[in-house]
Parts: sequence; C-alpha cells; structure tokens
Amino acid sequence: TDAYLKAMAGGRGLNAYVLETPDQARAMAKVADEALARGEAGPLTGIPLGIKDLFATEGVRTTACSKILGEFKPPYESTVTTQLWRDGAVLLGKLNNDEFAMGSSNETSCFGPVINPWRREGSKTKLVPGGSSGGSAAAVAANLCLGATATDTGGSIRQPAAFTGTVGVKPTYGRCSRWGIVAFASSLDQAGPIARTVRDAAILLRSMAGHDPKDTTSVDRAVPDYEAAVGRSVKGMKIGIPKEYRIEGMSPEIEALWKRGADWLKAAGAELVEVSLPHTRYALPAYYIVAPAEASSNLARYDGVRYGARVPGHNIVEMYENTRAAGFGAEVKRRVMIGTYVLSAGYYDAYYLRAQKVRTLIKRDFETCFANGVSAILTPATPSAAFGIGEKGGADPVEMYLNDIFTVTVNMAGLPGIAVPAGRDVQGLPLGLQLIGRPFDEETLFSLGEVIE
Ligand code: GLN
Repeated sequence: TDAYLKAMAGGRGLNAYVLETPDQARAMAKVADEALARGEAGPLTGIPLGIKDLFATEGVRTTACSKILGEFKPPYESTVTTQLWRDGAVLLGKLNNDEFAMGSSNETSCFGPVINPWRREGSKTKLVPGGSSGGSAAAVAANLCLGATATDTGGSIRQPAAFTGTVGVKPTYGRCSRWGIVAFASSLDQAGPIARTVRDAAILLRSMAGHDPKDTTSVDRAVPDYEAAVGRSVKGMKIGIPKEYRIEGMSPEIEALWKRGADWLKAAGAELVEVSLPHTRYALPAYYIVAPAEASSNLARYDGVRYGARVPGHNIVEMYENTRAAGFGAEVKRRVMIGTYVLSAGYYDAYYLRAQKVRTLIKRDFETCFANGVSAILTPATPSAAFGIGEKGGADPVEMYLNDIFTVTVNMAGLPGIAVPAGRDVQGLPLGLQLIGRPFDEETLFSLGEVIE
C-alpha cells in the first residue's frame, strides 16, 4: 500500500485518480497486516485496488465524473466493493471515467481526460487510455494500483484494457450485482475487473461476483474458482471466428493480430471454425438507441433535490432546468435528448421497439453459434490502437461510437467477454484480442485468455 501511494503521487500527471484516499488505505492496510499476523488472510488481504468513480463508496466522494453529483458522499457502499473489502482488499482511491460512463476515450469526464501511459515510439503525442473506464486501465497499466474495478455497458472494460495492454473482463449480465453502481443503461451495465494478468483478473472476479438480493437481475448461481480455470487445457475446444467481424477497411495489423491469436489457440489444441453472426452490422445502431433510452430514464433522478449540485431558480421547474443545464456535460445531454426522443410517443415503435427486436436477433445469432458446439468466439477487441487526445469525435460523435463495433454485441446479448493483450502495432502500442463466451462460462474465457496473453 505504501509503495502504491508513493507511485500514485508520482503518477498524478496521468489524471487517473480523481480522489486519493491515503488515510483509508493505511487504515485498511493495518487491518490487513493484523489479519496476516493472526494467520487469517482472505483471498485479497492487503491487495491495493483503485475503484472506478461509478461505484458508491460509503462516506467517500462518488461523482461518476459528473458535475451534477458535486461532492456527493454516498451513505452506502456498493455490493461489489463491499465484497472486495470483505475479502481484505485496500482502497487506494477513486478512478477517473467518462461522465456517467458515456464515452470511449475518457474525454467526457468533468475532471478532464486521462492520459494513457503508453506513447507511440519516438512521439510525445498524448494518447487516450480508452473509455469509459480509462482511469482504471491507465492506473493498472502504470502500476498505480494492483487491480481496479470497472464497468462495461458497451465495451468500457474491454476497450480501455486493449488500449493499455491490460486484461479486462466483462462478466455475464447478472454475474455481479449492480447495486450501488451509478446506473447508465441498466439492461447492459456490468461490473468487472481490469488487471495486469488473466490470473489477477480471475482472482478479482471471484470476489466481485455473486448473487445479491438487492439486485433482482443478479443471478443466484455459485461463483466458481475462476483462478483454477487459468492454465486449464483448451484442447478440443471449438473456437468461432465470426466472418462479419472482418469489417471493411480493417487494418492489416489488426487482421494479422487476429490470425496470430487463432494460431496460438490452434497450437494449444483448439479447433478454429468460421462462424456467422449475421446481425452484427445492426448492433451499433441498435445499441446507440437502447443505451441512450435507458440512460435518459436513469438520469431523470438528477434533479437538484436528491444528490449533489443544485442551481436555484424562481420555481422548482426552473431549478431542475438550471441544475441539469449546468450539471451535465455535452455528451450526457446528447444521450438524454436521443433517449427521450426514441422513447417518445410516435417514435417509440420506429426506434426503441425496433432496436429491442434487433437485440433479440443478435442474441439468437450467438445462441445458434453456441448450440453448434462453439465454446467461445475470437475477435479483435478494437478496430485500432489508442488514438490521440482530441483526435476523434470532436465534430462527429459517430466517429467515436464506431470504436465500439466489436464490443457492443456482447452487452446486447448479455454474454461474458474478455480483452487480452496480444501484440503491438507498428508504433509500439498495445493491441488486444477479445474472447466471447457462453452465458456464465467465464472460466473458459480465463483458460483461453491465458493461452493468448
Ligand atoms: N462507448 C460506449 C458508450 O459510450 C460504451 C460505454 C460503456 O461501456 N460504459 O456508450
């Protein structure tokens, strides 16, 4: 803990932490030392972690990196973090993210962008760490924590992991409790770990996962020993290569990376088969209807009364308007407007209902694939390596949304996915591969991920 607190002070230039909690960290480390002295170590005793600022931490400022939450200090702790502390982990601080987890570059945070610790060879250009869990990924990559919590609605764990050479796991929908996590799109959101190795991610997920009566969408299933799956043989497993992911204009580098990953799995005894996920091309447009629709509803609670910031007005409606106008950033306002529009009378059937039907078709594509004996699907994690700060999405938000092309289908179908570092681009930047698994079969992803890493 002391070593990490020191590293955090030296690494402030990355802007990965939005709040450092050295007093809590030292107090928790002391409790861990005492437990160790008594010979009562838990699975995470003394392990220093960073927590994405989307997780409610009791008495510790939680903002979702939005001005609208102001200095909000939750009077409760999220279930996921409660379980991490139960197992002995230590809180180092709260990590930066895109405002309300809306973004792919960590540039929408009210605390400013996070800087990726990686640079292109021979270049000083500052790169994004990906998003929305950019603080989590950058902090893990730069050794400012041993592991971090993150959340993934459309790729926010896997894409930043790929951009920083770390491992990110988005578990099956329902595997981790969402209780006490600031909601973005409730039918897509899942918590998961970002870590330096597949093994570390497996250890963290075991503590984070599990049924919670406070989240009715969390599933009552035993949590396996994920670590035991690391190093398990993948011999005879059928791995699908979806032809629809070979998108137009795909860079030869990404194609080569994908091929290399397939070769490694083959060398480990897996069988590679081409599969078809025909509705893939509708995933991105459908996601960018469903996610904003749910967001517009979830964000209605920020009214200047219940949480954080308030900007007064002459009457209550004016107070709502002033608070929301000043409290939300541009991307969040865009999502609220899109979401409200697609849910409004006359447009609901044309957009929201249709997007939900597309979602079912996407899910069925995967079900067909798995029914044919496929154990997991291998794809690139992102269409490119990390890009420069300010380089994308300025004039055209859709340019930024296209980043999520390989990740959103997994959330739409509720499946588990892992991003594993698999190589470097010509400029020396990390590139990641993604493995998509059957529902509640994270274990297979850990076994396969370890072969690739
Ligand atoms: N980039 C996607 C979005 O902005 C996904 C974000 C996420 O997974 N939280 O909606």
